Amino acid sequence: MIELRTPAQIDQMRPAGRFVASVITSLADKAAVGVNLLELDERAHKMIRDAGAESCYIDYHPSFGASPFGKVLCTSVNDAVLHGLPHDYTLQDGDLLSVDFAASVDGWVSDSALSVIVGTPDPKDQALIDTTQRALDAGIAAARPGNKLGDISFAIGSVAAEAGLKVNLQFGGHGVGRTMHGEPHVPNDGRAGRGLKLKPGLVIAIEPWFLHTTDEIQFDPDGWTIRSADGSRGAHTEHTIAITSGDPVVLTARD
Ligand code: MG
Repeated sequence: MIELRTPAQIDQMRPAGRFVASVITSLADKAAVGVNLLELDERAHKMIRDAGAESCYIDYHPSFGASPFGKVLCTSVNDAVLHGLPHDYTLQDGDLLSVDFAASVDGWVSDSALSVIVGTPDPKDQALIDTTQRALDAGIAAARPGNKLGDISFAIGSVAAEAGLKVNLQFGGHGVGRTMHGEPHVPNDGRAGRGLKLKPGLVIAIEPWFLHTTDEIQFDPDGWTIRSADGSRGAHTEHTIAITSGDPVVLTARD
């Protein structure tokens, strides 16, 4: 079921968005050569405790998960791009790190992700990150009443196509509200003018993620971490946004 939020409810969702943005910013600042992924998870966990927020991930146990996730953060490094389970790994120079974080504040969820390069960037990796960011911006710009869901997907997919990237459609954006994952599914490619009519009050996470040279993925034995099938690197970026009668509100906007 697709739920629409009133302007008052969208205002109630702002603290969660601000909190999630503050965690993503803090993690991006902390990520450096020599930092362990478990330290990033611990930092996010402490921020959750200090804020009185609730993790959306720690008890998350979907049908494809081997067991509850057990951490508060996804950390995906290099050829891992989504759902990376934080583990004992120390970041190295040139690593491409994607962090994905969702939490609930005052009963409302926000969800956001960001990729950063640790230490010396490879220009190809930086270009990949920049492309996902442009795709996110294009998707948000299309999130307006009068458009359809397919216009968001088409906007994202067009940026990928222009950059010569193919898009995996298995995982994409989603409705956000009292829980982390609701309808509608927001694919990262699609046909303009098709699908759900966008209306004020629709709150969704838009999350382009692209790989350098493949659209095929594989799962790690941990049952969570998703890697490219060919070892090429991936980047991921995500905001939770609210469609309004005017411009879309980016609830997880970072300063
Ligand atoms: Mg997310």
